[in-house]
Amino acid sequence: MSIFTPEQLQEAHKRSIFHQQEILSSSICGCFYCLSNFAPNEIVEWVDSEDPRGMTALCPKCAIDSVIGSSSGFPVDDKELLNRMRKFYF
Ligand SMILES: [Zn+2]
Repeated sequence: MSIFTPEQLQEAHKRSIFHQQEILSSSICGCFYCLSNFAPNEIVEWVDSEDPRGMTALCPKCAIDSVIGSSSGFPVDDKELLNRMRKFYF
């Protein structure tokens, strides 16, 4: 079982917003609300379109802005990470 520190969870959370480039360069994405995994091209909705840092993806399964891409370096297909983040942020 993986252990993630609160600092790691906070770092991962920062990668869930304004991340369009990182998401599009990821091989897989994970949602820490519904805990699903999906490919970047399954994402159809983006918000924060006015933000110069980049748009934020909405999860294609639950429409929550809680998506992290594998290019962040975090193991987004690790259910333990997604579960810890859900408990931390929801
Ligand atoms: Zn979701």
